[in-house]
Amino acid sequence: MRRLELHWQILIGMAAGLVVGLGVNLSQDAVAPLLEGSAALATVVGFVVKLVDFAGDLFLRALRLIAVPIVLFSLIVGASSLNDLGKLSRIGGRTVAIYLVTTAVAITTGLVFANLTRPGTWVSADLRDQLATAGVQQATAKMQAATAPDVWQTLLNIVPTNPFASLAQGEMLQVVFVALVLGAMLTLVPEDKAAPVIRVADGLTEAILKLVHVIMLTAPYAVFALVVDVVATLGLDVLAALAVYSLTVVAGLALMMFVVYPAILRLLTGVGPRRFFHAIAPAQLLAFSSSSSSATLPVTMECVEERLGASEEVTSFVVPLGATINMDGTALYQGVAALFIAQLYGIDLDLGAQLTIVLTATLASIGTAGVPGVGIVMLVIVLQSVGLPEEVMAGGIAIIFGVDRLLDMCRTSVNVTGDCMVATVVAHAEGALLTEEEAARRAARADDEPVDEHP
Ligand code: ASP
Repeated sequence: MRRLELHWQILIGMAAGLVVGLGVNLSQDAVAPLLEGSAALATVVGFVVKLVDFAGDLFLRALRLIAVPIVLFSLIVGASSLNDLGKLSRIGGRTVAIYLVTTAVAITTGLVFANLTRPGTWVSADLRDQLATAGVQQATAKMQAATAPDVWQTLLNIVPTNPFASLAQGEMLQVVFVALVLGAMLTLVPEDKAAPVIRVADGLTEAILKLVHVIMLTAPYAVFALVVDVVATLGLDVLAALAVYSLTVVAGLALMMFVVYPAILRLLTGVGPRRFFHAIAPAQLLAFSSSSSSATLPVTMECVEERLGASEEVTSFVVPLGATINMDGTALYQGVAALFIAQLYGIDLDLGAQLTIVLTATLASIGTAGVPGVGIVMLVIVLQSVGLPEEVMAGGIAIIFGVDRLLDMCRTSVNVTGDCMVATVVAHAEGALLTEEEAARRAARADDEPVDEHP
């Protein structure tokens, strides 16, 4: 019997997690007295909860373990195989430009949606104040964590003063920079010196990609654990109260994912949605379950290179850069959230203010780290940029906090999809994208042995 494809397995894990998580969520009140009555039962339940937590965290740690070395080694190989720096700056320029434009499109989409549905007008003033009081603690924490990124400092920070510290701290942009420079320099030293270094980096890249394969075999179970954990603790009442807001965010994200990206792909590359989504499904599902584009990075790279057929050189540059600076889903969500909060408190944000949101949210998304919940911290900066009063910001953040994890899952999937889309566009423009047949053959062979095959 043929084994079910990985993304179906993950989807089943996710659905099972949803059902079990909802069961736990809804039965909490009924189960609490039973647990109080029986110490043995409480111990068993406590153990199962810990185990589920442990399984999810272990999986995420295994992926995070891979992120830095895979970027370093694969980018050294990628950059050293380029024999002109002009090509590198062309790829770089094109990548950053598309990232910025798609992010601005995403926020604008969010703003248009929020102007149409006016989610803030669906929550009564009473309910608003009640929700704001309930989430006050989390709001204070988020507001304290927010510091506006300084553009110059962000640019300067790309160049590390100690590359080993960058590796140790997982500063992805710095790692990309170091690997690019090293790879480029390897093309300038005599071949007998460069070749062994490149071979080592190449061998390590292959070994790490194999590790991604192995870890992904456990993904369906891990995803189950991650989803149970989130859904079991989800505030269903808050979700119902903020239904219009949540649906507006989700509808905007769906439009980006299923209309805007496929249209760009069709227009610029000819790659159809079936091929694209089939190739990147594991990365999307993982992004959804983990709410972290950084943790998903190794899988995103694997999907783009092995399943979609982009070259190593383009993948190892465009994808890590995207996981660090390109957050279309987050930006869209920030647009909707900003308007929602203003509407809740009866503040009118005119066209000028909304343009300010487009600008700040584009910049803020560059400084947003690809880990769970950072989007809401950066939202504070967006809210500050349009001059919302402190108490409105605090109240607003407190209110949307209750549904943030769920929306984080959705926006992270879009963040990762956007990275894959741009990688496809850049690879196609560079003539470094396999045809569908070549990519399928390659993906089939990747399970048996690593291959290197590019036009
Ligand atoms: N969790 C998102 C990501 O990793 C960032 C965010 O909070 O919006 O891409």
